[in-house]
Amino acid sequence: MTITVCHLYPDLLNLYGDRGNVMAFAQRCRWRNIPVRIKEINLGDRAQFEDFDFLFLGGGSDREQGLMAGDMINRVGSLRTAVEDGLVVLAICGGYQLLGQYYRMPDGTKIPGLGLMDHYTEAGDTRLIGNVIVDAEMDGIKTRLVGFENHGGRTFLNGIPPLGRVVHGGGNNGTDKTEGARYKNVFCSYLHGPLLPKNPALTDLLITLALQRKGQEHHLEPLDDGFEQRANQAMADRLLGKK
Ligand code: GLN
Repeated sequence: MTITVCHLYPDLLNLYGDRGNVMAFAQRCRWRNIPVRIKEINLGDRAQFEDFDFLFLGGGSDREQGLMAGDMINRVGSLRTAVEDGLVVLAICGGYQLLGQYYRMPDGTKIPGLGLMDHYTEAGDTRLIGNVIVDAEMDGIKTRLVGFENHGGRTFLNGIPPLGRVVHGGGNNGTDKTEGARYKNVFCSYLHGPLLPKNPALTDLLITLALQRKGQEHHLEPLDDGFEQRANQAMADRLLGKK
């Protein structure tokens, strides 16, 4: 049994090491002897999203989002079917924005989103930039996420749950203390870094959900996450002035 990963638009959507999320997901599978196959899908490439177990979508500047939005709209049918069927997805920042209704850029241009999730994004006057701490509760797992944000867009959720609550930083919009969003097995966040290496609990949840969707009630063997946890803690302590 192999886990098949789709990395969507790696050439266009790859800010602040976002590609590292695919590497972290794959490595934590391989440390448990779970084979992984990664397929990169770029502009114009054919893809049946129902064939994948995990899909990753990174962040990008307004220019890059403008370049890939048209191609992405053509994929809405297959993506919606896969998402409604429980495809596990991690989408970061610009990718997160385009899973929603739309992203209105600073010049007023509106990039239509896929409408797979009920949120929308409006460009703000300033950028939300800096390190972030988020307290998240996902499928009964409480964890503290740390990462880095840099976005002009302000995202507002229409009744869908956030990924977590902002402890330090801007998050979705710098006002309502929400960060990211969750819909079925789709996890969205503004956190770059990349996100997963310093947040192993989230990575393992994504792997577990992908295995469950393949009918594998697989209890993931615990790994020695000493480095990951110390890196997470060190960043949180520094941001909260404990160090
Ligand atoms: N271009 C979008 C914004 O500025 C997303 C940026 C990003 O992916 N870091 O909000």
